[in-house]
Amino acid sequence: AEDALRQAQKMEAVGQLTGGVAHDLNNLLTIVRSSIEFLRRPNLPEERRIRYIDAIADTVDRASKLTGQLLAFARRQALKPEVFDVSERIRAVIDMLRTIVGSRIRIVIDIACEHCFVEADVTQFETALVNMAVNARDAMDGEGTLRVRVDSVSSMPAIRRHAGGPGRFVAVSIGDTGVGIPNRLGHIFELFFTTKEVGRGTGLGLSQVYGFAKQSGGDVAVESMVGQGTSFTLYLPRTARGIAPDAEGDRRGSRYEE
Ligand code: ADP
Repeated sequence: AEDALRQAQKMEAVGQLTGGVAHDLNNLLTIVRSSIEFLRRPNLPEERRIRYIDAIADTVDRASKLTGQLLAFARRQALKPEVFDVSERIRAVIDMLRTIVGSRIRIVIDIACEHCFVEADVTQFETALVNMAVNARDAMDGEGTLRVRVDSVSSMPAIRRHAGGPGRFVAVSIGDTGVGIPNRLGHIFELFFTTKEVGRGTGLGLSQVYGFAKQSGGDVAVESMVGQGTSFTLYLPRTARGIAPDAEGDRRGSRYEE
């Protein structure tokens, strides 16, 4: 009976998953279909014709982006954990973050934990940073500050009981000064939950962040204030390598603007 229940739950999850994509794709197909209908009209002014063709091209691009992301998600490879220095990795991807948010957004890097090592899949870690940076950019509407902070903390918010001494976790925060998250805060990590318009948002980003965090023995937390901004914090267990006898000993710290 337990197997049957698990099977049923699995089928329900798959149903929700495919239902979400089918819904988004259907909306996009509707746009293509009606644009074609408009194009069929006789004596259509040239300028209108161009507009409908552009709409079709744009919509098809969005649809293939959606399926591309879905395929990437489905094909997710098994995690290949390796030990790496978190701050070093972040410095290595700053140019990429700069490209994502654009030149008008300030990027402030705040490293309070030098030589903090974790054991996790590097590519997935970078993908999580990208996903959070994309969301931060979308929340800021072209102007604001992206704050990237690395710190070592004694516990993850959700499981304070398991606090295991100072510096047990590396906390990587991506903060923005964007619109904030009004309500339904509890839904944002769900697969396919998005408030973005059809084709722009897929609702896959934070699912990846969440899945990566959990599979790496960590967690992700969010704090947000409407009109002020949002901050996501990714917690990863710190590995033995890099932990000084006095675990806070290497918190020399550096803070600078990119
Ligand atoms: P997507 O970005 O495709 O919508 P995500 O899973 O990355 O999917 O995000 C889900 C939703 O969470 C977004 O649509 C948005 O409503 C909300 N969200 C995520 N990050 C932020 C942020 N930094 N500021 C405001 N809202 C956010």
